[in-house]
Amino acid sequence: MCKKTIFSKIISREIPADILYQDSLVTAFRDINPQAPIHILIVTNIEIPTVNDITIDHENMLGHLFSVAVKMAQQEGIDKEGYRLIVNCNQNGEQEIYHFHMHLLGGKRLGIMVSE
Ligand code: 5GP
Repeated sequence: MCKKTIFSKIISREIPADILYQDSLVTAFRDINPQAPIHILIVTNIEIPTVNDITIDHENMLGHLFSVAVKMAQQEGIDKEGYRLIVNCNQNGEQEIYHFHMHLLGGKRLGIMVSE
C-alpha cells in the first residue's frame, strides 16, 4: 500500500493542524511555517502528486479549490487589500510536499514574486 502523505494524515485528522475549512473535495489549514501573516494551504482531499498530474477529470475540483481560496481570503479579511496564490511544482518550483496544494499568502505587501 502507498504511504499516505502528511497532508492526507492532516485531512483524516491523524495528525493535528489548524483546519479552517473542509468539505468532500478540499481542506484548508494554516501552514506550519508561515511566510506571511496569513499563510493557508488549500489541499485536494485526494492525493495528486504535482500540478503535472492534473487531468480533465480534476477540473471541477480545482475550480472549487479556487472558490475556497477566495472564501478563505474573505474570511481572513485580506480579499480587498490583496493576496497571492501559489502552486509550486517539482524541484525548480521548490515543491516540498507531493500532494497538490495551493498557498494563500497575505496580510502584508508581499514584494517581488521571485528573488535570487
Ligand atoms: P510546497 O513547498 O510543497 O509548495 O509547500 C509545502 C508547505 O507545507 C510548506 O509551506 C510547509 O511549511 C508546509 N508544511 C509541511 N509540513 C506541514 C505540516 O505538517 N503541517 C502544516 N500545517 N504545514 C506543513
